[in-house]
Amino acid sequence: MSKKKTAIIIGSGAGGAMMAKELQGRFQVAILEAGKDFRPFSGPLDQLSALRSTGLFFDERLIRLLLPNMQIDKTKDMVLVRGRGIGGTTTLATGNAVRCDQDLRAIGIDLDAQFEELYRELPITTSHQEHWSDTTKRLYAVFEEMGLDPVVTPKLLDTGHCIRCGHCAIGCPTGAKWDTRRLVDQAVEKGARLLTGCEVVRLERENDRITGVLARYQGKKVRFSADLVVLAAGGLGTPVILERSGIACQKTLFVDPVLCVAGPLQGFHQERELLMPFISQQDGYILSPYMDYLSFFFDKRWRRPMQDLVSIMIKLADEETGSTDGRHVKKSMTKLDSERMEKAVLQCHEILNRLGVPEDKHFPGTLNAGHPGGMLPLTAAEKDSLHNPALPENLYVADATILPQAMGNPPILTIMALAKKIAASL
Ligand SMILES: Cc1cc2nc3c(=O)[nH]c(=O)nc-3n(C[C@H](O)[C@H](O)[C@H](O)COP(=O)(O)OP(=O)(O)OC[C@H]3O[C@@H](n4cnc5c(N)ncnc54)[C@H](O)[C@@H]3O)c2cc1C
Ligand code: SF4
Repeated sequence: MSKKKTAIIIGSGAGGAMMAKELQGRFQVAILEAGKDFRPFSGPLDQLSALRSTGLFFDERLIRLLLPNMQIDKTKDMVLVRGRGIGGTTTLATGNAVRCDQDLRAIGIDLDAQFEELYRELPITTSHQEHWSDTTKRLYAVFEEMGLDPVVTPKLLDTGHCIRCGHCAIGCPTGAKWDTRRLVDQAVEKGARLLTGCEVVRLERENDRITGVLARYQGKKVRFSADLVVLAAGGLGTPVILERSGIACQKTLFVDPVLCVAGPLQGFHQERELLMPFISQQDGYILSPYMDYLSFFFDKRWRRPMQDLVSIMIKLADEETGSTDGRHVKKSMTKLDSERMEKAVLQCHEILNRLGVPEDKHFPGTLNAGHPGGMLPLTAAEKDSLHNPALPENLYVADATILPQAMGNPPILTIMALAKKIAASL
């Protein structure tokens, strides 16, 4: 029997896996993960594309037939994407490793030391630029001509093993893309226990302590307990567990809505490249080349061969106005969100025009989002403790739920830096 203090980590995505890796050794860690092993998409893309005209792909939730670890929720006007399985949503990420902690810095949280560690520990690189196709070079040149200041995206990537298949968001077939399954492996190698298919339902509380973690595991209701509990079930998972446990969250959900504007361009072959090879930072949103698989399969306007499409992504920092109760997610575009989106769409039209695609041929994709968070935001009052006073003393949240604001930017690196700081403070 170990005399070490024990810790339960709920979720193995960006925040949970980093907490597990950092805490194992100092604590005896158990990771409770609702999903199972991640399996990348491995079907015949050409044959499946041909099936689009049959109407088989009529609802985005059916994506689970192709990619079981992708979970879809739908709001009135948006499709929400998240990962369920070891590695969480990082397995579906496009590998972007962007530092975006300005909102945390603004409330007094300094993550310089944690980012330095991350840059030392992780394979973050821009060397993929040396292998860019002419298509990507052309896109980059158009962004430059328009004064959009494109910046080569730092990627969590082993460039030598990248075959530029463009499948980053549906699972990397070669392992070239890094995701947090590697951190889970490190924690397990050091002695952590990993329980998959273990869905936490709620927490039991006595006075100011969490005394039990109630979960569904192997068809039974199971109760776990530990000295420390870390909740990292993601921006849509964590608030639900908290609310079921009698701890109220705020209706401040953000999601970073994404819209792609596309057009036909014969033989352009944008799909033969990493997704989001470079990013243009604009006021409240980013622009980047991105082949949108959801729209490609489920949006009738996208029924063309992928090689003959060009697609530019807009990713918006939305106003924090949403919420979830576990069954439904409430999230709509506000007036400001829509105004920003319209401005960005005009820029996309200009990019496509300059690539030679006439404006009457442009079409948008499905409005979707994959960066949920913000329902228990950190404030300046918690800059030292990193612990919301509404939480019992032995319960911490370490995922996108505690980010203060929408970033409109890839959040994995920042969530991991924050998790490192929380782990160091325990
Ligand atoms: C298609 C796509 C591409 C993306 N690309 C990038 C990118 O390139 N770079 C970037 O920085 N960000 C990217 N993101 C966003 C990024 O992946 C997420 O913001 C990030 O992973 C969130 O981390 P998290 O720890 O909050 O939650 P997650 O990574 O979602 O992890 C939550 C974990 O909790 C588990 N879980 C949920 N409920 C329970 C429960 N009740 N019990 C037990 N376990 C539970 C889930 O299975 C999951 O493993 C992308 C997102 C999508 C959808
Ligand atoms: S483009 Fe490279 S990193 Fe992306 S899925 Fe293909 S091999 Fe993996």
